[in-house]
Amino acid sequence: MIAFSGNTLDRVSLRRADPAWLAEQWIHPEARVLPLWQLRPLVVGASRGPQQAGFVIPRVAQDLAGSEAPRVFLGLDGQSPLFALDVSAAQDPREQGPLAGLGEFVELRALALRGELPPEELAICGTAKAMIDWHQRHGFCARCGAPTKPVDGGWRRRCGQCSADHFPRTDPVVIMLASLGERCLVGRGRQFPPGMFSALAGFLEPGETIEEGVRREIFEEAGIQVGKVRYHASQPWAFPSSLMIGCLAEAQSEKICLGDDELAEARWLEREEVRALLSGGRREGLFLPPPMAIAHHLLRDWAFAS
Ligand SMILES: [Zn+2]
Repeated sequence: MIAFSGNTLDRVSLRRADPAWLAEQWIHPEARVLPLWQLRPLVVGASRGPQQAGFVIPRVAQDLAGSEAPRVFLGLDGQSPLFALDVSAAQDPREQGPLAGLGEFVELRALALRGELPPEELAICGTAKAMIDWHQRHGFCARCGAPTKPVDGGWRRRCGQCSADHFPRTDPVVIMLASLGERCLVGRGRQFPPGMFSALAGFLEPGETIEEGVRREIFEEAGIQVGKVRYHASQPWAFPSSLMIGCLAEAQSEKICLGDDELAEARWLEREEVRALLSGGRREGLFLPPPMAIAHHLLRDWAFAS
């Protein structure tokens, strides 16, 4: 399963716009809240071993949150209404207050790399982080500059001045593995750890299809012409608000020519080399992204395709 996918909650999107219904959910005896501190969700359980998302009763988390703290209705888990709440107003909830000693606040990427959380809970943590992050960065109307207020359980912000509605962002990014026969194209971004090569990626632009974005990005970054493009899978990527759209592409040219300064290096890898790297880790200082990244799945699915 691709990390951050598989959120099983019922988002109840038709009812969350009803303030009376939402208020009932907040005081429901089975309501639970996931506190996030500095965008890090609370995680409970052994530090090495099975862990769970740290859902607590609302009163416990609410004591730590500021009065204007973003709160998001995540959905129903059976009968249990689940919320996310920003407790960043607390100085250090790990050490002081009602959550002290309960667990730890873990950065989302580290949480995914650790792999100790059930996949559906990691997906819920990803949703919670993306939403709280969005609220923190969208307190003012992009149209008139006045303050906005959350509505619909946190799934919309409305401007108090001009009534414009603002919805949570999901920015589409294409990430693609181009292949030419038995070889595939990988690149090393300037910000990557030394030795790591991955599939190429870039933001889609307005007015572009996924296929057009894939062709443009590969040409801009590596100078490779691409023909057929096939959608493969996608991944919510809350850093801060992307959706990674994974594609496989057929290259039509071979000569690499670095273009737009995104990549420090690009190269072709043989299928056998990719298989060895995926199973054996690092070879000659070169390694591929971990399973939490959709690039890993693109590489794996291409390398082991019959
Ligand atoms: Zn406005």
